[in-house]
Amino acid sequence: MVEFPVALRGAIGHAYILEGGLPDRLDIGRAFAKRLNCQGLADAATGQLNACDECLSCRVFESGNHPDIFFVSGTKATGIGVDDVRDQIVSKMTTQPFKYKYKIFIVDKAQTLTPAAQNALLKTIEEPAPYGVFLFLAEHVQTLLPTLLSRCVLVKLGETVNIPDAEAQALAEEVASTIAGMDILETMGLYRRFEPYKESRESVANLLDMIYLAYAKRITHAAAARENIQKIWYDSIAAIQHTKQILAQNGNFQLAIEIMLLKLSGVKEI
Ligand SMILES: [Zn+2]
Repeated sequence: MVEFPVALRGAIGHAYILEGGLPDRLDIGRAFAKRLNCQGLADAATGQLNACDECLSCRVFESGNHPDIFFVSGTKATGIGVDDVRDQIVSKMTTQPFKYKYKIFIVDKAQTLTPAAQNALLKTIEEPAPYGVFLFLAEHVQTLLPTLLSRCVLVKLGETVNIPDAEAQALAEEVASTIAGMDILETMGLYRRFEPYKESRESVANLLDMIYLAYAKRITHAAAARENIQKIWYDSIAAIQHTKQILAQNGNFQLAIEIMLLKLSGVKEI
């Protein structure tokens, strides 16, 4: 079982760069390619995360003979050149997949793609065939052209999510000052801002503390100014504390955060 980075879980893009060391980038790249063509998953984009390992596509992939998943490699010592790209990618991309949903090109050591080879790829990436997916696996991206980088989803592997305090602070303030009175759709939309915190228990606990403090501050200010203390501030603090507990016990992240946001917005019933 492979744990996919967040960027590989949602809707499917047509070109990715997985930046990281071995074996991670290859393991994740292979598992992602297998999942995209797996016939045992109801919806590879949103459903079960790993391929079924049982369907025909999964089995031929494991046998190393998948007709629609290609491993591209350089034929010269200098790296992956323009001829390699033309022979192994561009010419193959013009035809439909042989049998499966996607035609997937896995390019390991993508950092060795020569500038000419990268340029030869641009048009294919820019005007993607609906069935084409590129997975560039790279040790680093310093040798990749900005024009290539800008057309791909860059996924940094093995990076511990450590979100700066200032960023969490800004989100906490924004939530506390805007959420009251939001409707359900807006509130659910706000969940997306929390997703980057999913990977790190520490970061999310930190963020929740900051939201808590944002409400606590409102209460103390109002009290000092002899203004009305709103009941929803207290309710929000209780909801935040409750959510912290759930997450500390490994509860479902999305569910816990969404319920918390609904309580903070004051939406009465779902
Ligand atoms: Zn399968």
